Amino acid sequence: MSEREPFFTEQHDMFRAMVRQFVETELVPHVDAWEEAEEFPREVFEKAGAQGLLGLKYGEDVGGANLDYWYTVIWAEELVHSRCAGVNMALLVQSDMATPVIHDLGTPEQKAEFLAPAVRGEKIAALGVSEPGAGSDVVSLRTTARKDGGDYVIDGAKTFITNGTRADFVTLIVKTDPEAGHGGVSVILLPTDVKGYSVGRKLKKLGNKASDTAELHFDGCRVPRRYLLGEEGHGFYYLMQNFQGERLVAAIGAVAGAQRMIEDAVRYGTSRTTFGKPVVKHQVWRHELSQLLTEVEAARRLAYHAADLYGRGVPCVKEVSMAKLYCCELANKVADRCLQLHGGWGYMDEYAISRAWRDCRLLTIGGGTSEVMREIVAKLSDL
Ligand SMILES: Cc1cc2nc3c(=O)[nH]c(=O)nc-3n(C[C@H](O)[C@H](O)[C@H](O)COP(=O)(O)OP(=O)(O)OC[C@H]3O[C@@H](n4cnc5c(N)ncnc54)[C@H](O)[C@@H]3O)c2cc1C
Repeated sequence: MSEREPFFTEQHDMFRAMVRQFVETELVPHVDAWEEAEEFPREVFEKAGAQGLLGLKYGEDVGGANLDYWYTVIWAEELVHSRCAGVNMALLVQSDMATPVIHDLGTPEQKAEFLAPAVRGEKIAALGVSEPGAGSDVVSLRTTARKDGGDYVIDGAKTFITNGTRADFVTLIVKTDPEAGHGGVSVILLPTDVKGYSVGRKLKKLGNKASDTAELHFDGCRVPRRYLLGEEGHGFYYLMQNFQGERLVAAIGAVAGAQRMIEDAVRYGTSRTTFGKPVVKHQVWRHELSQLLTEVEAARRLAYHAADLYGRGVPCVKEVSMAKLYCCELANKVADRCLQLHGGWGYMDEYAISRAWRDCRLLTIGGGTSEVMREIVAKLSDL
């Protein structure tokens, strides 16, 4: 980008520099070890919280910074410089996936108990949607919350839950009326120290290794009714709203990651000589990289357009779905082509592209698959 995007001000630039500094000092030196260990320290959440990075758009009542949405865009863009999607995803689950619904709907008591400590990075949050038998088809979820006196009693299981092994609470999607379809879905805040809660397997994964992904079990977990978020039976609608921010940060991160992969590839291809000239000077690569740069620029325009609408509160489900679809598919293509440019070294862990290629694969699956995005776009286009 040769000049500042019109959406950003000098304050945004200063914030970008601050996030870059955080990423370079607190994440970059450690990510190889975290990937190897398949975990990272809890304190990373606290450090991000101390810098105000986990509550950018939340109110000052919960310790947030009350900033416009472009600060969140910058947060998602700068995180990719860690070159470790695992830790990035864990932090983004905390800031932009498991907590927005609490900000939007929570009572002052719910915000004080769950959101404020999450913003400080003291409590780790997880979002519990997916189940062994229900992912894309959210309405078919089977985890139930039945009323019993002043409590809900929760039974069921979730899977693929990011931050799941050590979450202090789960923003949990349940069925309060199993017969009612969409209208039977509700959102409940579940502290993980309740009786009957247990963590199953920590799942082994292809990529995003530094983050933990777990199975969760609920066996008669009893929580007071005041932990219901919003209204009972409105959970499907709340979740769809919540998904927009989740999908947007995925799209924005995908574009920033794709840009970075191309820059890495150019650096490598400039230093590697074949048949008497640097790899990037062979016409086939100059053209390939030009094509990728063009598509990344188009993707950025689409993501920024969706972010602009979202930040201004304009309905933008179609634009966000298009951005999630296009940017995440593109990131996979870019990863694949940039790995190819590295030749054999692209397959070796010494080069960042190898991890990026593995990590990218999640983008078209998590937070709503590409097929689900196409379905949403189709419906909203009257197809
Ligand atoms: C690393 C990782 C972290 C995750 N973190 C979380 C988390 O923190 N919280 C959480 O709740 N979930 C999480 N997920 C789950 C993720 O959101 C789901 O995997 C995703 O929504 C897809 O659901 P599924 O895996 O059940 O696939 P399924 O729904 O079983 O789909 C299987 C395939 O069928 C396709 N498909 C489904 N329906 C249709 C249709 N109508 N038309 C055409 N094709 C269709 C899908 O696109 C997919 O390709 C995570 C997943 C991973 C891999």
